[in-house]
Amino acid sequence: MVSVVKPSLLGFDHQELIAICERLDVSSVHAQKIMGKVFRYAEFDLENIPHFPKKLLTWLQENTELSLPEVVSAQKSEDNTQKLLIRMADNRDVESVLIPGTGRLTQCISSQVGCAIGCEFCLTATAGLTRNLTTAEMIKEVMIAHRTLGEYPRNMVLMGMGEPLHNYEHVAKFIRMVTDEQGMAFSPRRVTISTAGLVPAIYRMLEDDLPCSLAVSLNATTNEVRSKIMPINNKYPLEDLLEAMQQYIATRNKKRILIEYVLLAGINDSLDDAKRLAEIAKSMGSTVNLLPFNPFLGSLYQRPSDETVAMFSHHLNDAGVVAVVRISKGREISAACGQLKTEVNQRAVHLREKRSAVP
Ligand code: SF4
Repeated sequence: MVSVVKPSLLGFDHQELIAICERLDVSSVHAQKIMGKVFRYAEFDLENIPHFPKKLLTWLQENTELSLPEVVSAQKSEDNTQKLLIRMADNRDVESVLIPGTGRLTQCISSQVGCAIGCEFCLTATAGLTRNLTTAEMIKEVMIAHRTLGEYPRNMVLMGMGEPLHNYEHVAKFIRMVTDEQGMAFSPRRVTISTAGLVPAIYRMLEDDLPCSLAVSLNATTNEVRSKIMPINNKYPLEDLLEAMQQYIATRNKKRILIEYVLLAGINDSLDDAKRLAEIAKSMGSTVNLLPFNPFLGSLYQRPSDETVAMFSHHLNDAGVVAVVRISKGREISAACGQLKTEVNQRAVHLREKRSAVP
């Protein structure tokens, strides 16, 4: 017998809930009640919603599922970073990381199982892409954070496993849902998509006027270096990416783009790199997050010395650019940037080991 997988109620946005109410000939006010209870407070007991029509309740129970996936492990580091390993219904695991900050907590959301982009410094990359996460699965990541913390995190960044713009449809719907004021009501300023530089999708974000902020993982200031560490640069070279970023800023009323820059020893950490990066950041009014590389077993790159990191950031600051060295949190539980490693990623380590063993 073929078992039918019901869609998750958590994948329906407000308009779709209204359409269900209309189809069942009940008031759309009940769609708002679902938004106010399920999405606003992550509460799933629909039976307890006052004056909720039996017809709607029965339809939802028969045609949708409302549950959260299992958290198979939750690790906490000394700095209170929590890494949650979440097992989806098809037994695929993704990681979601809760990162404390001064007076604010940020959730790092995964958007795919694995990743197809292949950045050379990233542990997630080498296992390749298994599949996209659905909108409902990403909403579930956020609701698990609510269950863990007792409230939603203040900020979220789509910077976990996967390239969010490579899963555009699901991610765009997710962004609209988490920022819906009737539901989770995240401020668009506090929801950030971080991309490796999928240029057409940046233009699409503009066309769609997606209510979120943008960060670009730049990591190099020449095509030669960027193509070496980020193969996506062969398809969308630096000049096209920078043009798309300028267009984004111009169209979005001078809204700034955060530049992320993973510092790799001897690869992109020279004074000349710092000078070029300062010019790029100044031309866009961007803040720069400097992320000294976190080596992992089998990684091809090394972390620069503290002196080199200081030289690099001082040069940016002296040039008038706000540059912040991000000390990756949760390093001892492998929750830091580029270190997310589910069992899928463990295969990547073996691949790395095999690759580096080839003479
Ligand atoms: S850094 Fe991001 S885009 Fe690049 S391979 Fe890793 S997960 Fe994918």
